[in-house]
Amino acid sequence: MRIDVLGVGFDNLTMTEAVSRGAALLEEPGCHYVVTPNPEIVEVCRGNPAAMQAVNGADLVLPDGIGVIYGAKILGTPLRAKLPGIDFAAALMTQMGREGKSVFLLGAKPGVADAAGEKLRERFPGLVIAGTNDGYFQDDDPVVEKINAVQPDLLLVCLGAPKQELWMQRNAPRLRVGLMAGLGGSLDVFAGNVKRAPKFFQKLGLEWFYRLIKEPKRIGRMMKLPLFLVHVAGAKNK
Ligand code: UDP
Repeated sequence: MRIDVLGVGFDNLTMTEAVSRGAALLEEPGCHYVVTPNPEIVEVCRGNPAAMQAVNGADLVLPDGIGVIYGAKILGTPLRAKLPGIDFAAALMTQMGREGKSVFLLGAKPGVADAAGEKLRERFPGLVIAGTNDGYFQDDDPVVEKINAVQPDLLLVCLGAPKQELWMQRNAPRLRVGLMAGLGGSLDVFAGNVKRAPKFFQKLGLEWFYRLIKEPKRIGRMMKLPLFLVHVAGAKNK
C-alpha cells in the first residue's frame, strides 16, 4: 500500500528494495515507469490533475528529497527512506552494467546526454549506451521511433517536471523499453556540468540548501517547500 502525501502515493521502500523492484520491472513484459517526486513536484501535482494522474500512475513512486520524508512523518505515516532518483538510477545501472544491459538517455540541452553517456560508460563498466537525444524536441514521434529502433532496457527521461511524467505516461504504451525513469536535471549531473551537494549536505538533508546557494535563481521554485509544509500541517489538522 502506498503512503499518501497530499494526494501523491509513495512506495514505502528502502533503496535496496527499490532497486530490486526496478530490476524486476526491467524484465516484466510492457513498458513501466518510475517517478521521483520532491515537495516541489507534489505542489505542482496539487494544481495540475494531469500531472497528479501521471505521477500516481507510475509503477514506482520514490520520495526524492527530505521534505517528503518530513511531510509523511508529520502526517503520522512515516516513510522508511529518502530515495533520490539519481542514486536509484546509479544503483540500478551498476547492476545493469554487470549484466551488459543498455540505457538510452533522453533530455537536457544538446550535447549534454552524449557527455553523460561517456561518463556513465566509464562509471558503470559493462553498461551499454544505446543512444541519446536532447530534450528540446517538438514532436514525440521521431524520438519514440529512435528509441524503439534500439529497444533499450532502461530509458532515462530528463525533461523536468511535470513534462517528463506526462511524456512517460503518454508514450509508455508504444515504447519498446523495459523501464523508464523521470530524473529531472540528472543528465546535467552525470555529465559533470552541475555538481551535487557534498555528502555532508546530503546526510543532513540540506541538499536543497546547497542548490539554492549555487543557483539563487531557484528561490521562486523553492518557495514551494515551505508552502508544501504548510499544506501538510493543514492536512494533518483535518
Ligand atoms: N529540459 C529538457 N527539455 C525541456 C525543459 C527542460 O530537456 O523542454 C531539461 C533541462 O535542460 C534540465 C532538466 O530538463 O536538464 C530539468 O532540470 P531541473 O533542474 O529543472 O530539474 P529537477 O532536477 O529540479 O527536477
